[in-house]
Amino acid sequence: MSVKPAPFAYAKARSVEDAIKLLCEHGDGAKLLAGGQSLMATLNMRLSQPNILIDLNGIPGLDGIALNGGDVAIGALVRHAAAAKSDVIAKHAPLVALALPHIGHPAIRNRGTIGGSIAFADPAAELPACFLALGGEAEIAGRNGARRVKADDFFRGLYETAIGPDEILTVIRLPSATPDMRFGFAELSRRHGDYALTGLAASARAEGASLKDVRLAYFGVGLTPIRANGAEAALAAGKFDDAVAALAFDLDPPDDIQETGAVKRHLAGVLLRRVATQLRGARA
Ligand code: FAD
Repeated sequence: MSVKPAPFAYAKARSVEDAIKLLCEHGDGAKLLAGGQSLMATLNMRLSQPNILIDLNGIPGLDGIALNGGDVAIGALVRHAAAAKSDVIAKHAPLVALALPHIGHPAIRNRGTIGGSIAFADPAAELPACFLALGGEAEIAGRNGARRVKADDFFRGLYETAIGPDEILTVIRLPSATPDMRFGFAELSRRHGDYALTGLAASARAEGASLKDVRLAYFGVGLTPIRANGAEAALAAGKFDDAVAALAFDLDPPDDIQETGAVKRHLAGVLLRRVATQLRGARA
């Protein structure tokens, strides 16, 4: 197996418009480079052989984290490590703060970007599931301007998203946490920092002792992050055992190199009990 990429040209985009122009010029032969933490591995293994890499890292304005109306707006080039240090994320997007320490190792978090993780859409990755659990929106720029896509419509298949071939993910918007919101996150992996065998990111609204608007986003159990709709409804009805039972219909995890589908489904139930406890607790 090769461990060196095939030759490619390199262009440093100076603006979003510049990057889109380059994408349009080079079509299928172009790949965007953000943190490189997933892309370089696919190039080195020659799973991807682009003619040209378009480096997004010189584009100003895509590395900010801001409160914008009722949203937390996270620029696509924000590194995982910067997000982990952000007071805005800690206070207004606490689910993301819970998930970030589970991503790889410090070297990966220093380079990897939030936009790269969501755009790459690894089905076992933490942030795509958080994006789905929070019901966020992706801002995508293309030759005809910008558009927004809801998280529920964003993930289309294995490593496939709503981002078109000549488009760039520029901003991730997450609803800012209100005091009644509750969040839960848990994953099981062989070693800390490995991709999850199975994981769960969740949000809900507390109304007295009840949970409303429950969103459960599993990762590592299918081709995309997956909402467990039956379990969500059972949790909202206060039926916790029924929620675990509903996973038999909500999830159909395929066997993969890490584990069998049957074991993953069992682990999904274990995680649901942990996360349900977090959702029912007071927020830190
Ligand atoms: P890149 O590698 O630069 O790009 C990834 C893909 O997304 C490419 O196809 C690129 O063209 C596209 N892309 C990037 N940015 C954009 C954009 N703005 N718009 C459109 N397309 C874009 N991740 C986890 O979630 N959990 C883990 O446990 C984990 N462990 C890891 C362990 C190792 C050893 C390594 C090497 C990586 C691991 N990662 C893990 C991946 C890491 O989180 C990456 O940072 C992330 O998946 C991709 O982000 P990036 O910025 O590096 O993107």
